[in-house]
Amino acid sequence: MESQKRMKFPNPTPFDYQQLTEKIISFEKRYPFLRYQYIGTSILGKGIPALTLGNGHRSVIYVGAHHGMEWLTSVLLIQFIEDFCNLYESGGLAGKTSVRAVFSTHTITVIPMLNPDGVDYQIHGIDSDNPLFERLKRSNPSMDFSNWQANARGVDLNHNYDAGFWEYKILEKENDIKEGATRYSGESPESEPEVAAICNLIRFQKDLRGVMTLHTQGEEICYPFHSTVPKGAHAIARHLSLLTGYTINTGNGLSSYGGLSDWCNQKMSIPSFTIECGKGKNPLPIHAMPGIYTNLKNAFFAFPTLL
Ligand SMILES: [Zn+2]
Repeated sequence: MESQKRMKFPNPTPFDYQQLTEKIISFEKRYPFLRYQYIGTSILGKGIPALTLGNGHRSVIYVGAHHGMEWLTSVLLIQFIEDFCNLYESGGLAGKTSVRAVFSTHTITVIPMLNPDGVDYQIHGIDSDNPLFERLKRSNPSMDFSNWQANARGVDLNHNYDAGFWEYKILEKENDIKEGATRYSGESPESEPEVAAICNLIRFQKDLRGVMTLHTQGEEICYPFHSTVPKGAHAIARHLSLLTGYTINTGNGLSSYGGLSDWCNQKMSIPSFTIECGKGKNPLPIHAMPGIYTNLKNAFFAFPTLL
């Protein structure tokens, strides 16, 4: 019988949940000062890992892979964690940033892969024993998952936050956007466990100064520019722009509703920046990662010091 047969293999080698898990296990053995927990569980039951560095009172959060095709952002954050740990041990600098100083003044939490199910769908396709198989067959009749951005049941996590959610619902209907690969916002804000997990982390994080959320692609630093944005956000964006060479985009159109940065800025008064990493067609290839990381590295390290 073919019940275990995989439906699609659009990408044989990129960074999936299994590889993430193996990396984290190797880090746990190597870096005793790195703390590790799950902030929640995905629709298909995968633990969503969070890695924490530092013991200062100011908190900063980095988030990767809201979107299935954007697993390169997980690789970027894993590299950041590894470099951070090595520089902490050696007492070195990243650009002008002293890593040991940041370690003592800040608590840095990194969620490298918020949407592990979506990443695995995009990389491996789905198995016919997937509990959502029939539902996915209806929402995605081609069963081609190479353009999959959503979570396991076809909700785009970066439209599921409680910021402009109901305004977006109107646009969603006008544009005939339904459950599927991208842009469907879900039944209600935080209906998806992945989004509820990160929102709860943010709500209860002590003295949270800022959030950086990584997507691909476009070489842009995005944040919603209006009266609810916390003071100083524009200066931080300009600094990040100088460090990366990326342009500042203050957002418009369908992409600027219901996202993590919208919610942080509008509802939580926490400055949050969406970094569109690299340039090209998603999914960006794994071999593009070193060049993209080189552009972003100093901004990753400097971000806590700007908050
Ligand atoms: Zn994205």
